[in-house]
Amino acid sequence: MKKRNPQNRFAFVHSLLITVLFLSVVNLGCAQKSIPTTAPRISTVYTGDIINGKKVVSSLNTDDLEAGKKHLLYFQGVQMSTGQHWYVSVIVAKGAKPGKRFTITSGVHGDEMSPIHTVLAIMDQLNVAEMSGTVMAVTDIARPALESMQRRWPSSGRGTELSDMNREWPGNENGFSPVSRHAGLVFNRLLLPNTDLAIDFHTGATGLDAAVFNIGDMSNEDVKTMNMLYPVQMIWDNAAYPGLLHNAYMDAGIPCFTPEIGVARRLELDLIPIFVEGTMNVFKHYRVIPGVLGRTTKDAKTYIGKNAVPIFVTQGGFIELFVKIGEKIVPGQKLAIQRNAFGEIVAEYNSPVNGLIAGMRSDATAEPGHALFFILSDASPVTGLPSFVD
Ligand SMILES: [Zn+2]
Repeated sequence: MKKRNPQNRFAFVHSLLITVLFLSVVNLGCAQKSIPTTAPRISTVYTGDIINGKKVVSSLNTDDLEAGKKHLLYFQGVQMSTGQHWYVSVIVAKGAKPGKRFTITSGVHGDEMSPIHTVLAIMDQLNVAEMSGTVMAVTDIARPALESMQRRWPSSGRGTELSDMNREWPGNENGFSPVSRHAGLVFNRLLLPNTDLAIDFHTGATGLDAAVFNIGDMSNEDVKTMNMLYPVQMIWDNAAYPGLLHNAYMDAGIPCFTPEIGVARRLELDLIPIFVEGTMNVFKHYRVIPGVLGRTTKDAKTYIGKNAVPIFVTQGGFIELFVKIGEKIVPGQKLAIQRNAFGEIVAEYNSPVNGLIAGMRSDATAEPGHALFFILSDASPVTGLPSFVD
C-alpha cells in the first residue's frame, strides 16, 4: 500500500462535518458564545471499589490529588442493564506547580482509534516534575461504542438503539437515555470542574474518509491561539453544532476545539505525531511545560477555510473515485462516477469550486443523499441543502 504523505493530507470530519456544514450553511451553527462561568466546586468521591488496581471515583476534583504525580483512575459512568457500570479511564498528570488545567479527550465515537493513541502519546511525554498545571486525559468516553468498534453508543431501550454521543453534550444526568445520562455524569463530575482549556480528538467515520485538520471557532482568541500551534495542512474555522463536546465546553466558557486525525478504525501512525507536536506546543505556550515550540501553522503553511462545500450522491450505485484525500481540485474537475448493477454510468460528479478534498466516501456503494465529498473552499456555501443530521 502506498504510504500517504501527511503534508498532502489534512484532517477532516467524520460525519460530524455533515451536521456542521448544514448548520453553517443555514447560519444556525454560529450561536455559541463563550460565556465565562465558574464551575461549581466538586469534591472527589471514591466509591471504595478498585478495578485492575485503580481506584474508582464517581466525581473528581484534581485539586484533591497529590501534586508532582501521575494518577490513574476509573470514573464511574452510567449503569448497564445488568446493574454494572460503564467505567472510563482517567489519567491525571498533576504538575509539581500550579498552572492551567487542560483536558484532552478521545473515544466519544467508538470507531476512532488514532485519537486514543494520540492522547496516550501526549500523556507519556509529560514529566510532572517540570509541569506547572494539570493535564487530564479521558481516553474511552463512549465505552460501549468502543467495545464494538462502532461510532454510536448501543443501548437496549426499544430494541437495540444506536446513539451518537457527540450529539448529546453536555448531557443530562436525569435524561431519557443512558448515553445522555453518561454524558451528563462525565461532563458535570469529571470534565467541567477540572478544565480551563480542552481539546477533543476525533477522526473520520466508517464509510467516510477524512483528511487531517482542526475544527474550531477561531473568533475565540484561545481557540485561535491553540489552533495556530498545530502544523496541520488545514483548519476549518467553524463554530459547529450544539451537542458536540467541544461546543458544550464553549457554552460553559471553556475554550475547546476538535482535531480530526484522518480515517476511522485504524491508527494513522504517520499523522499522529503532527497532533502530538501541536498539543505539546499548546502546553508550552500556556507554560504548562517548558521548552521551545515545534512546528506550527507557519511551517505547514496551513490553509484556513470557512466553507465546506458538499457534493451529495444523487443515485444508488457503485462509486469510482478519481481523487485522493487532501488533493487540490479545480472547478469542473471530474471527481467520481457511479455505475448501476449493469455497469452503466448513472452519475458523474464534478467539482463546482476550487478547493481541497477534505472528506470523501470510502465505502464503494452509496445511496442518494449520502455525502460523497466535502471540499474545503473559499467559495460561498451552497444554499438550500436538505435538512438532515448525520
Ligand atoms: Zn468523532
